Amino acid sequence: MNTVTASIDLDALQHNFAVVRRHAPHSKIIAVLKANAYGHGLLPVAHALARADAYAVARVEEALVLRANGITKPILVLGGFFSAEALPLLAAHDLQTTIHTREQLALLEQAHLPAPIKVWLKLDTGMNRLGMRAEELPAFIERLTRCKNVVQPFNLMTHFSQSDEQDGPATQLQIAEFNRLTAHLPGERAMANSAGILAWPDSRSDWIRPGIMLYGASPFGGQLASEHDLRPVMTLKSQLIATRACKQGENVGYGGHWVAPHDTILGVIAVGYGDGYPRMAPEGTPVLVNGRRVPIVGRVSMDMITVDLGPGARDKSGDEAILWGDGLPVEQVAEKIGTIPYELLTRLTARVFIKLSRAGEQAPSLIEARRVA
Ligand SMILES: *Cc1c(COP(=O)(O)O)cnc(C)c1O
Repeated sequence: MNTVTASIDLDALQHNFAVVRRHAPHSKIIAVLKANAYGHGLLPVAHALARADAYAVARVEEALVLRANGITKPILVLGGFFSAEALPLLAAHDLQTTIHTREQLALLEQAHLPAPIKVWLKLDTGMNRLGMRAEELPAFIERLTRCKNVVQPFNLMTHFSQSDEQDGPATQLQIAEFNRLTAHLPGERAMANSAGILAWPDSRSDWIRPGIMLYGASPFGGQLASEHDLRPVMTLKSQLIATRACKQGENVGYGGHWVAPHDTILGVIAVGYGDGYPRMAPEGTPVLVNGRRVPIVGRVSMDMITVDLGPGARDKSGDEAILWGDGLPVEQVAEKIGTIPYELLTRLTARVFIKLSRAGEQAPSLIEARRVA
């Protein structure tokens, strides 16, 4: 009896993982599980992706949750460490980290650790967010090579700023710059995110870092995951809790912004911004009710939305409503709202129940798991 449910299709997850392998058969795969596995549930996703070569998270805390739950696979902390206290934790739990600032290098040099740490030197090749720049690199590399707290040789990575734009020159330039800067270094390399894996063959190096494509959403604006043979993993569902006839000229919801242009039937669905469904969702955002796409009318409330079911609609309380997923690609919902699938998937709140299923089995599913807080 859970009102809003994120149904997680583990078969789809494994299918998408196979698609990653198909694109880069010679690369090792770091499955990116940050932000509660993009909202899909950290631990169940980690267990389902047991064939990945490593996992990546953004923060040390996320990595510690994985270790505390018995995950022994290599884990890379993409955001790296920011304080001296984090270093003994990284060493004790065998966590790998990126390094991208001189402050981090100084902390590493000064630390007394039980064991050296595996690090990935992050190079800025055009993102201008995190990463060492070319001019600072030689001195940095020399110190890192001499650092006793670092497992040698250290690895190398960079991150793309525009890999979702398939015809611009930026990504190819970043790849060339990364190859130029690292040509003389012995460590292993990692460049590609999902867009790189799908669209930039030269970025499929020793390691690849797929995130969004594992979850069955497209990294490219204007392209659906299905065009890349990816299947949606999450279907966000709720139900109609009321229907009512609405006369032409009546207004609906807070602010009374929507006025019925004709007599129609409205449906109220139990989902709102308290579940993480964005309040910014405009009128016309599609919802799937009994196989039909119906538009949101009026504002999104904390616990409810209203949809126009259409004149003569026969839907009734208790009928299922799909907010995105099976039959309603999250890309299309995100585009209508003016955001990206990443944000919709990761912003669900603790009120949403995560339910694991395998497509081959009939609902209700066998396993249920609470979100990892
Ligand atoms: C989030 C992240 C990824 C995964 O990106 P997707 O676009 O979701 O595939 C890869 N690398 C880094 C450094 C990241 O932060």
